[in-house]
Amino acid sequence: MSLRLIANWKLNGSIKFIKSWSQLFLENFNGDNFNSIGIAPSSLHFSLTKDLLIEHGINIGVQSIDGEQFGARTGEISASMVKDLGGVFSIIGHSERRVLFQESVESISRKLAQANMNDIVPILCIGESFEENKANITQDVLEGQINDALKDHKDLSSLIIAYEPIWAIGTGKTPNPKDINSVHEMIKDVVQSRFPKTELESVIYGGSVNKSNALELFEQKDIDGALIGGASLDGKDFALIANIFNKLKV
Ligand code: PEP
Repeated sequence: MSLRLIANWKLNGSIKFIKSWSQLFLENFNGDNFNSIGIAPSSLHFSLTKDLLIEHGINIGVQSIDGEQFGARTGEISASMVKDLGGVFSIIGHSERRVLFQESVESISRKLAQANMNDIVPILCIGESFEENKANITQDVLEGQINDALKDHKDLSSLIIAYEPIWAIGTGKTPNPKDINSVHEMIKDVVQSRFPKTELESVIYGGSVNKSNALELFEQKDIDGALIGGASLDGKDFALIANIFNKLKV
């Protein structure tokens, strides 16, 4: 099975944290589908995380890549560097990057192109704000984000879309699972009808997923997996979520 459950550790981690996380995860995970799991540590902790987990078949990726291959771009990392070090995926266009770092639609499009050129699976994050949700324009917003990201390269060899309502990230609030399912169906329809040559592997959900709500989320047919922030910082909790995923999706 391809990548479906992604841990986004954001700006967290230390040598001690990663060693203890790996131990807790391996003690509590009772499946054998390690290849559906991906961890996105900080870039500094990429190699340590990989050294501890890759032998089990877990995929290691990054939280962002640059839109260029190389050059005078202080502080950035490229898709080719990720590939060179054994990375498998990159999160692209996370709402925190769009908002806090003013990531533009053009730069998200360039990042997708870099990921595709370097055989890195892009996990493209899209999602509406609270105001957009309340105004009932979620579908238009998501369609716009998909078009903006994909219009310049219509035949990506792999793509995962993470539907992450901005108001659900880190807030403990989640939309009704059935509503998420309908949004995922819509995303699949939009990509398949407008970008039929793009290999959409899965549509995963992100926004306050935890060990208590994972069951009702994974029961939904079109929720193929999850992108998990806060609850992924506890190796045991992340393993428990992965165990629920195994029961329902593998
Ligand atoms: C995220 O930041 O992608 C995310 C889903 O975070 P959390 O699980 O903490 O809501």
